[in-house]
Amino acid sequence: MKKTFIPIFLGIFLASVLFVPSALAVDPNPSYQDKGDFYLTYEPTEDFQEYEDWLKAEQYFEIQIPFLNETFKLPHDVDIIIAECGEANAYYFQGQIIMCYEFINQTDYRFANYFDIVYGEGNWTTEDLNYSVINVIENVLYHEMGHALIEIYELPTTGPEESVADQFSAFILLEFPYEDDPTNSIGQDAMTDTAIDYWLAAEENPDLTHTAFADTHALNQQRFYDLACWAYGSDPDYHKYMWSSENWIPENRLQWCEWEYETMMYAWDILLAPFFKDFSPEFLYNYEDWFYQYMQTQQSQTQLESGPESSAQQGMVAQESIPKVPDWVRNIFIWYGEEKISEDELLNAIKFLVSQEIIKVSS
Ligand SMILES: [Zn+2]
Repeated sequence: MKKTFIPIFLGIFLASVLFVPSALAVDPNPSYQDKGDFYLTYEPTEDFQEYEDWLKAEQYFEIQIPFLNETFKLPHDVDIIIAECGEANAYYFQGQIIMCYEFINQTDYRFANYFDIVYGEGNWTTEDLNYSVINVIENVLYHEMGHALIEIYELPTTGPEESVADQFSAFILLEFPYEDDPTNSIGQDAMTDTAIDYWLAAEENPDLTHTAFADTHALNQQRFYDLACWAYGSDPDYHKYMWSSENWIPENRLQWCEWEYETMMYAWDILLAPFFKDFSPEFLYNYEDWFYQYMQTQQSQTQLESGPESSAQQGMVAQESIPKVPDWVRNIFIWYGEEKISEDELLNAIKFLVSQEIIKVSS
């Protein structure tokens, strides 16, 4: 099991192109250097050896490390540490993501009880339980990863960071399927299992206190609806039961879920694009809006770095340092010449050059 290194939308696009010359992959932001890696550590545990052995057998974290290292540039190393914490928790602090055995243990018990109630004792398997527990671990790991990347990349966010971290987790789970799961049922199930986990946590503490309302996290009940809604928004067919047979999401929220999902994915594409390791020219070609914004950022950065010169001079420095015809456009012309892409695709590239005023057309 392995995550693919390209988002679904790109995968669909690539699938439509017969030949993908990987040697032509480009780094969209060469000035941001990759100086670090993600590392995995299991801290010695007294009480949870069983869980350590199980996690190592599942290889869940071991699979995430290469995916993360092949996907993101890092300015320094980031540790993912599985440890005994003294409380059921997971958090990011000073370059370290800590996943506590107590949290894994709690999820395990919560789902075992839930399965007993829903399916009846003896009517579910350890495999069913392990699947749901790993699903919740996946969501929580990427929630903490959201906190980590917001700090590391100094990403602008607005809105409670806890909700933003949930959104990042949804981005990874719903947009990056495992290689042997092209329909992404695992990512979808990871969202809904975690939603259920929040619902169960809410039922454990039915009396809401002022502390709960004041918390930096949304209420467990709200997180249930958020996760369910975003999963639904990404694939309304897969989650049709949420309104047709089971009453997961009320109509007044359901009608916004697809829009919420698309808005979030658009934001994360733009926020993270400068920090992805590399992209094929098809990505840049497909995402000209993002590319335009990226070029503008590069231009303003070059201006900042060029020192205390007059603004006219700064403008010149910035312009000289950016090739007028981007590499991906140059490649599209080459591929058209080699009959690897259609005339329509070439015309779209020309339209982009016109929209960016690289080609000027008098009307
Ligand atoms: Zn958090």
